[in-house]
Amino acid sequence: MKYLEYLEAYREIKQKEIEEVMKYYKTEPVGSGYIDIITPFAHIEKFIEELTNIKVVVECVTWWCHSSEKNTEQYGCPHGMGGPVSSYFDGWFSEMGFEFETFEIPTDDLEQLNDDSQLQTKIGLINDTILSYINDLSKAREYSKCMTPALWLHVPEEWKRIRYMK
Ligand SMILES: [Zn+2]
Repeated sequence: MKYLEYLEAYREIKQKEIEEVMKYYKTEPVGSGYIDIITPFAHIEKFIEELTNIKVVVECVTWWCHSSEKNTEQYGCPHGMGGPVSSYFDGWFSEMGFEFETFEIPTDDLEQLNDDSQLQTKIGLINDTILSYINDLSKAREYSKCMTPALWLHVPEEWKRIRYMK
């Protein structure tokens, strides 16, 4: 079965699985869907690993500044525009705007998921690419410790979160 067809076929189960791991790793989704899932840097590796385990692909990364009182003192936050108040931590998240703010998996790579052979391997490879990018960027000169990655999941566009309450 093709990747997106597989997600549709098991929609209810997949949405529950995704939202369980989102909650477990204290992520902060912006909006009603599965894009801009702000994830504490300390949890990003495990979160992506779990997404691979439940066969969910990450297609894009954006960056948010975590404007806590401490970060503001140390790093001069906020570094971006408006954003949500954190549900789990002190402060709020501000959407950053600079040249390497987003990283996207090329459409050609996502299209390979339409061929169901070795699907799990392909999902793992794409998600590893995402994690490497995040780890590399965290070592860049421009990186500040307030910077928090947000993941966009590759799921059917019309999907809304079950637990969207705000
Ligand atoms: Zn900042």
